[in-house]
Parts: sequence; structure tokens; C-alpha cells
Amino acid sequence: MKSLWKDDEAQRCDDDLAMRVYTSRLLGASEELVMHGGGNTSVKSTREDFFGEQHDVLYVKGSGWDLKTIEKEGFAPLLLNQTKRLAELESLTDDDMVAQLKLFCMDPSAPGPSVEAILHAILPFKFVDHTHTDAVVTLTNNPKGEKIMQELYPDCLILPYIMPGFILSKQVFDAIQGIDLNERKGIILLHHGVFTFDDDAKQSYETMIELVTRAEDYITRKGSTVHPKEESEIDLLELAEIRNVISKARGTAQLAQLNDSKKACGFASRDDVKTIATRGPITPDHVIRTKRTPVILKKNIEKNVSSYVDDYKTYFDTHTDGKLTMLDPAPRWGVWKHRGTLAFGSSVKECQIIHDITRHTLWAIQTGETLGGWQALPEKDIFDVEYWVLEQNKLKKAGQAKKHQGKIAIVTGAASGIGKATALALHAQGAVVVGLDIDTSIEKQFNQPDLKGIAVDITEMKKVKSAIERVVREFGGLDILVCNAGMFSTGQTIDKMDQDVWGKTLEVNLTATQLVMKYSIEYLKLGIDPTILIVGSRNVSAPGPGASAYSVSKAGLTQLARVAALELASDGVRVNVIHPDAVFDTGLWTKEALEKSAGRYNMSVDEYKKKNLLKREISSKQIGELLSTVASQTFINTTGAQISVDGGNDRVI
Ligand code: ZN
Repeated sequence: MKSLWKDDEAQRCDDDLAMRVYTSRLLGASEELVMHGGGNTSVKSTREDFFGEQHDVLYVKGSGWDLKTIEKEGFAPLLLNQTKRLAELESLTDDDMVAQLKLFCMDPSAPGPSVEAILHAILPFKFVDHTHTDAVVTLTNNPKGEKIMQELYPDCLILPYIMPGFILSKQVFDAIQGIDLNERKGIILLHHGVFTFDDDAKQSYETMIELVTRAEDYITRKGSTVHPKEESEIDLLELAEIRNVISKARGTAQLAQLNDSKKACGFASRDDVKTIATRGPITPDHVIRTKRTPVILKKNIEKNVSSYVDDYKTYFDTHTDGKLTMLDPAPRWGVWKHRGTLAFGSSVKECQIIHDITRHTLWAIQTGETLGGWQALPEKDIFDVEYWVLEQNKLKKAGQAKKHQGKIAIVTGAASGIGKATALALHAQGAVVVGLDIDTSIEKQFNQPDLKGIAVDITEMKKVKSAIERVVREFGGLDILVCNAGMFSTGQTIDKMDQDVWGKTLEVNLTATQLVMKYSIEYLKLGIDPTILIVGSRNVSAPGPGASAYSVSKAGLTQLARVAALELASDGVRVNVIHPDAVFDTGLWTKEALEKSAGRYNMSVDEYKKKNLLKREISSKQIGELLSTVASQTFINTTGAQISVDGGNDRVI
């Protein structure tokens, strides 16, 4: 591991806290040291209060901040002497510790201080760095872990595992009495991580790099092996089934994102994967993201997951004190035999965090196996962290789930108008949305990890099929299909009809939608509260002269939806039709077209836009929100329905 220290950048740090931010970010830049809020740092300094008096303070990393991106505001300024005194207490409850640290904080808007704040306070050095480094922890997760540590770190204080928080601070407090820490380079906490310290920021940081490098070199010397990848096809229906079963176990829709990289596939292809993957995480703090073990998926998916759930219940019953409430028993990651690893989460972000952690876990497990056997902490220690109130509080900050959280949606014709508004409405309610459109700008418009665009002509059979497969492959399945793409042609009476226009209109509005449905249905059947929404038209019930192709295609679409509702009800797939009208903020309605149409009725454009019983103009956004609502639980008992959204039309009523 190389030091990332740069003199010119360091020189720009004009106070203690700026320097603390700088080297914290250096630590955060290496995933091998810390990930996703892991690890913490501090600096001891002074701070002026409201009355102009100076106080000794400990600026310690606040919870919710990541070392990679931390700012000055990410540190909580705690009164140093009071914080230190807490370590002298015989015992301290979590609630009291949190309350006291809050009370000692000189800035009411600062984040809650790290649970390791007291430990930082009692180390008598200006800068304290703490990481959960893969290399060191992997070596401690070994039957000979302690021996290897003594061999590698004769110049450090080595302490057995104990749960983070007050008892860890107390353990370190007792251990350093009568010891001259100036003669020690750091503290190694078995199964947890490393502390380094110095009055100089660079020295503390570079000692961390030095200690980690020793472990890395040891691993390189002894050799770590990664199993080679075996080629295998991904069965998308099996993936959708896995997602379905996992979602049911968690009680809410989940994404299932596959990592089929060479390393993940190699791991999943090992004969011993079931035994080595299920011994436990690298460090206990991963448990709130990944649970203690993954599910091993092989052949009978339902049985694999139900036995995981049973094991989780046994694990809970064995270790609970009787006062705890069991969390959901669903796995957060899976090893899909021969195919790779899967992350299960309510959002792409959650899956990403799980993937990051599991990538390191695979490395640690396999390295551990080569070095004498991977051995994680006993179940009870992992359980204590999983059900530790201070860890659970972090998860609660995530807030209330949205209506479509964890759902996967496809919207056709999503580059503009109603399609775009619907895609945005579904996304705003938590769904992962993929918009399809013939307009290539869709790929630029929707370019986020959970809101994507695919440029595709939906009349092309193979491309439609592969676009749908791409969605399933990337997110694990499909729950919501909104068929909105269409074209509008008017001004031709039947006797003067251009047959190309007639044919094209039916092809785009009717046949292409049938194609999208055809290739989506097998995945929708495995979806969570799955639904198809068809965007029809007021013209179906109240056609107008000169629009035969459009009206017939939309009427055909409505009939297609009714048949689909009949065919799919037994699989729980709802199919409903929305008939919009008087939506003028779409690409179809240019200023000229509006003026022309209004003129035909002897109306102003404004009057024309409100030409309905309720005298209201209807926006694409309103239609999009309505479609999002019909896709939700609110309409769980409705299928085969046709809903008018036209401001009221006497011919329809
Ligand atoms: Zn830690």
C-alpha cells in the first residue's frame, strides 16, 4: 500500500481540522482501508466558545459521514476532558454514552459523534487514525490469527476482540495504563481493525500505511488464490425467480443485482463455496449491510431461501435476550452457484454498498483459506453488533420507504410527454425505471444508475426482446410495464387513406405494444404486485372523423388489454387502461397545431385547452402521477378497468 500524502496539498491545510480532513480523505480513498462509513479519525485542538473562552476539544468523525468525502462539518467538536473522563467510569450504558457525548458537543448542529469517540479521546496524541483494513483483519480471522499478529506487529499493542462502544474504550483504557505508547506504533484490534496515532498528521497516516503494508506483504508472500471463472449462461427467468422469492422473504420488493465478474464467478464455482462463504463477515460492522451470511442458491431456489430464513430465525432465537424484535430474515446477498454473487436491496445504492463489501469479503475469505483457514468471529459476537441499538439507529435514518421502492419498471415512449412524466413519477416514488424510445436522446435524458434510457425502435422484434432482457439482467426482474409509445395521424378520411400511414399507425400503436407485452409477460409473472398499464385515448369511446387509423389502433389496444387482463389475472398481473384527452403539453401539440385546432372551434387557445366538462387543462405530469398511482397498492384490486382522464367528456359519459 502506497502513501497518498502530497506535500503541496498538505501545505494548503491552514488549521488542525483542515489537516484532519485531508488525511481522513487519504484513508477514505483506499477501499482496502475503509468502506461506506467504516473507520474513523480525530484531532485534538482548541475551540472558542460563545464568550470567547478557549476549550480543549476532540474533533471526531460524525456518524453518517464517509472518510472518502468528509468535510470539516463532518467532525463533532467534543469537550476533551469530559469525554476522557467517561473512560474512568466502571460502566456506561449506550443511551447514557450517546446522551453525554451529545451534551459535551460544542456545536448543536454537528453530527452525532462516532461510537469510538471515547477511545479517540484517551489516546494521548493529537491525531488518531482508525481503519478496518482488509489485510490485517483477514489475517486475524484465522485460527493462528493472534500468533501471526504477534509475529508481524511486535511494536504494536494487540488486543482481543471486544464489541465497539464503551466496553472497547474501557478495554483500551485499561490496557494502556502504565504503557508508554510512544514506543508503540499502533493498536491492533483482532477481528476489527487498526489504530495509529501521532502528534503529526503525516506520521499517523503513514504509520497506518506501513502497518497495513506489512500485512499485505505477508499475504503476498504466502500467496492468495482466486478461483478461475467458469463460463456459464445466465438464466434470466431463474434470476427473476430468485428476486421474487427474496422479496417475499423480506416482505417488500427488492432489486437483485448480479456481479458475474471473473472473481465473483470463480468464487461461486468453488466446490467448497457453501462452507467457506457461510462462516461470517470480515468485520462485525458489515453485518448491518450484509447480514451474517449469504444465501447459497443452487437448484431449488425456494428451498434455499426458506432454509436460510429458518436458520436466521434459529440464530435470532439462540442469541436474543427475549426483549429484542427480530429483523426481517431475508438475505442481503447470495452466492448463485457458478453464476456469481447477487446483492439484494431496496435501491441501487443499497445494492452497490453490498457489492462493495462482498467484493472485499470474497477476497478475504479466499485469502484466509489459503493462509490456514477462514475463521470469522463466533455468531454471538456478530449478533450483538447486528442488534446493537447504536447500529440499528443508523439504519433507521434511511427513512420511510416510498410507494414503488424496490420495484422495476419499463416505460415505452419515455423521451417526452406522458411517457416521460410517468417514468419520472415512478422514479420519484422509488422505482428503478428504464425508458424505451426511438428518440436517441432518451439515453442522455435518463442517465442515472436507477433511471436509464435505451434507444430502441419497438417495432423491431429482436431489439425489443433484448432491451427487456437487459433490464431483467441488470436489476433482477420486472414489475411495472407502461405501454405508452404511439404515433398520431389525422386529417385523412377512410376513402383518402394513405395505406402506409394506416399500416404504420397500427404497427406502432398496436403491434409493437403487443410485442413489448409478449416479451415482458414471463418476467412480469415473477414480479412483485405486477401490473401492465396501457395508455389508450379518449378516441376509443368518442372517436372523431379523419382519425380512423389512430382510433382503431387505440381501440385495438384497449381490446388487447382486456384480453390480457383475463389471461393474466390468475398470475396476479393487473392490466388497466388509461384514456387521456386534452393533454396539450406533449410533443404532438406545437403552437401552430394548437392555434389551428382552436380556430376550427372558433376558440382561443386557452379556451380550446379547457374544452371539457370540468373546464380544466390537463398536464402530462398529472397523467404520469395517475399512472404511478394505478401501478401502486392503491389499485391492487383493480384489473381490466378503463379510466378516463379527460376533464369530463359528455360523449364518453
Ligand atoms: Zn472500528
